[in-house]
Amino acid sequence: MSAIRTYIWDVTNIDKQSLRERLSEASSMLREGGLVAFPTETVYGLGADARNTGAVERIFAAKGRPSDNPLIVHVASIEAAEALAASVGETERRLMERFWPGPLTVVLPVRPGAVSPRVTAGLDSVAVRMPAHEVALALIAQAGVPVAAPSANRSGRPSPTVAAHVRDDLERRIDGIVDGGAADVGLESTVVLVDRDTGAVRVLRPGGVTAEALRAAGFVVAADGATAAADAGGAPRSPGVKYTHYAPKGRLCVVEGAADAVRAHIQARVDADAAQGLRTAVLAFAQTPGAALPYRADYTAALGVRGDATAAAQKLYAALRDCDARGIARIYAEAIDVSGLGLAFMNRLEKAAGGCKIIVP
Ligand code: AMP
Ligand code: MG
Repeated sequence: MSAIRTYIWDVTNIDKQSLRERLSEASSMLREGGLVAFPTETVYGLGADARNTGAVERIFAAKGRPSDNPLIVHVASIEAAEALAASVGETERRLMERFWPGPLTVVLPVRPGAVSPRVTAGLDSVAVRMPAHEVALALIAQAGVPVAAPSANRSGRPSPTVAAHVRDDLERRIDGIVDGGAADVGLESTVVLVDRDTGAVRVLRPGGVTAEALRAAGFVVAADGATAAADAGGAPRSPGVKYTHYAPKGRLCVVEGAADAVRAHIQARVDADAAQGLRTAVLAFAQTPGAALPYRADYTAALGVRGDATAAAQKLYAALRDCDARGIARIYAEAIDVSGLGLAFMNRLEKAAGGCKIIVP
């Protein structure tokens, strides 16, 4: 594909009125079939008018994304979501009212003709989300179109959590990037599908809205996710989960067990790798705030304090990108508990590790 100019708009530290002005070009571009990356509270998205097939096809081309992996459509109101769906059930409506704007994507039966068939990859459903980011909401509202937006990375790279990651992957491939600072959550949204017969909420992909939060709000969460079905070779409900996700250039292994045993094991592996001339990295947690990380490795990425899954989620993708940038050949990551946001964190980490997991006694 031929190189194009990528406009960059910095919208950090500006008031509402200036934000509107600074988004006017970007929103026109979206309306006219352009590709614009923008910040959301999960990760940066690569947006296009969801109704415009040509624009949506450019998303797949810019990312190098398989065309049978459907896109999430971003809206600025519940009404705009309703306009995309053939119908909205009672549980789905309650989910939107409770968690929107926020990192929750709801899969709904698609209203015929509401979005390009390239968005849904030919499915009879559409995944919709209203992001909780001032810039994203303003941009979508100003564009006045539903915005299809996968993560703004080249397919196979970690999702971008700052505008610089988007530039690294997509500069000269897309029309613009709205720089709104660092993404808040750092991991992609939770994708859910409601069973219209039982009202149970099935988590197709864990994310920023945790199963605990769904239960605490009174929703019944189905025990097994479609992720499990896909992993077992069954028909995936959420087509995207079948793709191998980002794997760093180096070999990544997750190490799980008691903290001291994990540290000893990782250091022994790092030493053995280093003895063979391999560059090593560790993704590690501090025991207490500010505590030094004890590893001797070429690179140690601090993911925050152990037990703080929120901080870990914010830092994960940048840490993986850092490992690639430093030419790291062997990466070891300390595992964390799968409670709360820890589930989404471990889901992404384990996908990046491609199944390499060491359990130390
Ligand atoms: P991404 O845009 O890369 O964050 O991935 C979008 C995720 O949403 C993928 O896991 C898709 O499989 C999922 N998704 C998008 N549309 C649908 C849909 N209609 N039904 C089920 N899952 C969907
Ligand atoms: Mg993605």
